[in-house]
Amino acid sequence: MNARDGADGRASPSDAAGRATAPRGKVFLVGAGPGDPGLLTLKAARAIASCEVLVYDYLASAPIVALAPPGCETIYVGKRAGAHTLSQDEITALVVRLGRDGKRVVRLKGGDVFVFARGGEEARALHAAGVPFEIVPGITSALAAPAYAGIPLTHRDYNSAFTVATGHEDPSKNGSSLDFSKLADPSQTLVLLMAMSNLSGIVAELRRHGLPADMPVAIVREGTKPQQETLVATLDTIVAEVDRRGFAAPAIVVIGRVVAERERLRWFDTGPLFGKKILITRAALDAHAFAARLWEIGAEPLVAPTIAIQPPDDLDGAEIAVRDVRIYHWVVFTSRHAVDAFFMRLRARGADARALGDTSVAAIGPKTAERLLSHGVVADFVPASYVGEAVAQGLIERTQPGQRVLLYRAAEAREALPAMLRAAERDVDVVAAYKTVALRDAEIPRQAQAADVWTFTSASTVRAFCDNVPLADCGMESKIVACIGPIAAEAARANGLRVDVVAAEFTVEGLLDALESSFTRR
Ligand code: SAH
Repeated sequence: MNARDGADGRASPSDAAGRATAPRGKVFLVGAGPGDPGLLTLKAARAIASCEVLVYDYLASAPIVALAPPGCETIYVGKRAGAHTLSQDEITALVVRLGRDGKRVVRLKGGDVFVFARGGEEARALHAAGVPFEIVPGITSALAAPAYAGIPLTHRDYNSAFTVATGHEDPSKNGSSLDFSKLADPSQTLVLLMAMSNLSGIVAELRRHGLPADMPVAIVREGTKPQQETLVATLDTIVAEVDRRGFAAPAIVVIGRVVAERERLRWFDTGPLFGKKILITRAALDAHAFAARLWEIGAEPLVAPTIAIQPPDDLDGAEIAVRDVRIYHWVVFTSRHAVDAFFMRLRARGADARALGDTSVAAIGPKTAERLLSHGVVADFVPASYVGEAVAQGLIERTQPGQRVLLYRAAEAREALPAMLRAAERDVDVVAAYKTVALRDAEIPRQAQAADVWTFTSASTVRAFCDNVPLADCGMESKIVACIGPIAAEAARANGLRVDVVAAEFTVEGLLDALESSFTRR
């Protein structure tokens, strides 16, 4: 190894003569966007996923902070109005010090880094300290909150400019830098951040400088999140309305004729599952995609995995089935985990999908088939209905008595499928590819209590859930219980749950469809 190489083989910095110098850190000032994790930029996601230290404040939403890699140090620096955890000077000093120490740092800020976020000050300090930095802009709440409320900041019918200002400065104090004679312009849209505590003073100034009493005003709080709320009034009535509704920060104030468009353009907060808290009980590995879908429809995922996926007890059996897969006429995968387990073992053998040879492949449903495809295998058979009985039926049609079938599946799966195949004289090997273990976690009853809807995507999640949650005192009567299919529903009833919704198509998408129509009817 040459002297320039670090212990891990990566080149470490050196000066012109080849002498090693102190490691050079880098600080990424990253905008997290307004809340909806879908509004994070690809560049921001990359920076977060590869950082060593993540410094974040209260506006950065939890699913975004969760993108930090394992082993990353996360530092919360607070800064909610009135409840500062660290002062701005302390935060700036911290970020500079981490960069100087050679760390790859992400300083994550809500919205955009240069819009009322003091990113300019932090960047200046980094520059002065000679610490390299990059700026990753984010979608500012000034744009996103009105957009999610259905308010276009410009519209040809109303205006050709908008102004974004801070309402943080008290207009009654001398020395406010806000020039209300310019801000009170009926031909512009005015967007105010941090304006809630001085709202009455701001409104009075705008009126005094000639904005009409009937000028529409919208206040959007917690914009782009499942908690989003919008209040629409006029300059004349807004202060009383805010008091009456107890409307609090963080909120964006939009003043201008464009606010009227919300009547037609409202879209985000109209869906049947908007704002609903939906409990996800499936394994953490699978919860992520489900949670992301919920964010898209404005629902709030509460993730409380009740089961985990682990290697099976009989590792040899799982291994031999993969090695000898060619002796089977068909191999059946009953979940994406079975697919992953199969290809993980294949890869460990230095092999790939070609090891399947002439063996045909069945997938229990579209998600399992999709997973096979990601390993380069097109399923030869996917039943129209995603349960064991339908797979058995299809396989019996496609095979002869005496032909060998491998079921590569969970250790604790139902017996219906092998029983039906054996009854039809197929030679069946059932091999556990993995096992699901029930988890014990105090978080499960806590999240169950907070949720509006409990979802179950398998019988094993139902059983594990009921082992964790005392059904008698968790407010079960007011919860909606939603199951992905008849097997999970049956398990739910057997465990004392009242089942409200069963998906017609046994996928997460099908579950959401069924839930949406159930809430639409309600
Ligand atoms: N850099 C941020 C702004 C930080 S200042 C950005 O670009 O969005 C903090 C103010 O931002 C809050 O007082 C509020 O006015 C606004 N804000 C931030 N996130 C918001 C959200 N999700 N909904 C409404 N307002 C928000």
